[in-house]
Amino acid sequence: MTGAPDGPVTERASTGFTRAYGSRPDGLWAAPGRVNLIGEHTDYNDGFVLPFALPRRTVVAAAPHSGRRWTVWSEQAGEQVSFGRAQAAEPGRVGGWAAYVAGVVWALYEAGHDVPVARLAIASDVPLGAGLSSSAALEAAVLTALLDLAELDVPVADRPGLAQRAENGYVGMPCGIMDQSASIRCRPDHALFLDCRTLEVEQVPFDLGACGLAVLVVDSHAPHRHVGGEYAARRTACESAAAALGVPALRDVGTDQLDAALGRLDDPVVRRRVRHVVTENQRVRETVELLRAGRLAEIGPLLTASHRSMRDDFEITVPEVDTAVEAAMSAGAYGARMTGGGFGGCVLALVDRAAAEPVASAVAKAYAERGFRAPTSFTATPGAGARRLS
Ligand code: ADP
Ligand code: MG
Repeated sequence: MTGAPDGPVTERASTGFTRAYGSRPDGLWAAPGRVNLIGEHTDYNDGFVLPFALPRRTVVAAAPHSGRRWTVWSEQAGEQVSFGRAQAAEPGRVGGWAAYVAGVVWALYEAGHDVPVARLAIASDVPLGAGLSSSAALEAAVLTALLDLAELDVPVADRPGLAQRAENGYVGMPCGIMDQSASIRCRPDHALFLDCRTLEVEQVPFDLGACGLAVLVVDSHAPHRHVGGEYAARRTACESAAAALGVPALRDVGTDQLDAALGRLDDPVVRRRVRHVVTENQRVRETVELLRAGRLAEIGPLLTASHRSMRDDFEITVPEVDTAVEAAMSAGAYGARMTGGGFGGCVLALVDRAAAEPVASAVAKAYAERGFRAPTSFTATPGAGARRLS
C-alpha cells in the first residue's frame, strides 16, 4: 500500500506560502477529500448519500493582501496564478485549476459578501481526479479560509451551497451537493447521512477502529473515459424519467412503487437508470439503519449490491473497477463497490483491519494478471471536515 506524498501537507502549504510571497501566512485551513460509502448518482435526484471524510486533505495557507489582485500558488499545479476582481466577477475569465479558487470568490460576491483580496498557497494529498473529490476539498479549504479572513460568520449549513455554486456556476461542472457537504460537514468516526433535497444531515456513527474494521480504498488508475458527457447523459435520463413519471425527482419514487413506475417507461435503458436510483436510495437507508445499530460489518452485502447496480443498471463502471471489486470479494472483503461518479476512479472495500494488506495485494495481483496499470491502495478512517488549523 502507498502512503501520502512526502512531508506533512500543512508544512508544504506553509513553506510554499513563504517561498511564493516572502512572508508568513496568517493561518492554515484544511478541508478533506471524501469517499462515498454508498449512494451513487442519487444526489442530483434529490436522494440520499452517505459519505465520510478522508484523512487526506487540501491545506490552504493564506493572508490578506493590500494589492488589487488575488494570487494563488498550488503545489500540485506547480504554478502561481493571479486574477483581479473583474475576472473573479465573471465566470470563464479564469480557467484551469485556478477557476476553482476564483469560483469561490465569485460565489461569495454573488451571495452578497465582500471578500478582501488575499494571497494563497495550496498543498494537498488528495489525489486529483481520482474520484476522491479533490475539487470540493479545494473549494471548501479556500472558502473556509476566505470566510475567516473576511470575518464572515456564514453558518456551516450554508457553506456547501456556496462551494457547489463555485463549481457549477464558475468552473462549469454540474455536480451535485454531496462532495462539498462531505468536505465541510463530516466529523471523525462518523459518516454523513445527507438528504440532498432538504439538506438535512445526520452524523451516523462509523467507528471502524472500534470494530476492528477498515475501509480499503483502491485507486483504479483507470483512464477516465467520457466522464463529462456520460455524467450529463445519466442526469438527463434521470430528469426525463422523473418528468415522464410526473414526479419532481426520482427520489419521489418509493421502492414499493418501483415496479409500477418501470411499467410506465418504454425505454429499457431509462428503466435500468431508474431502477438504480430507486434501489440505491433504499440501500442508503438500510445502511444507515445498520450503522445506527452498530452492525458495521453487516453493511457489506449492501455495498456489493450497490456495485452490481452501478455495473448492470447505471452502467458507469469499467473493467478495472469491476476487477478490483471481484478480487476484493474473493480475498474476503465484507463488501466492495466503486465510489464516486464512475468511469474509473476508486473502489472501496470493507475489510477486517488485518485483511487490508492481503486484500490490497489480491487486487494488485488481479490487475497484473489482466495487464492493467498497477492500482494504489490505502486505508481510510473517517476524518474531520473543513476547519482552521492554526
Ligand atoms: P476529483 O474532484 O474527483 O478529484 P475533479 O475533476 O472534480 O476530480 O477535480 C479535479 C480538478 O480540481 C483538478 O484537475 C484541478 O483542476 C482541481 N484541483 C483539485 N485539487 C487541486 C490542487 N491541490 N491544486 C490545484 N488544482 C486542484
Ligand atoms: Mg470533483
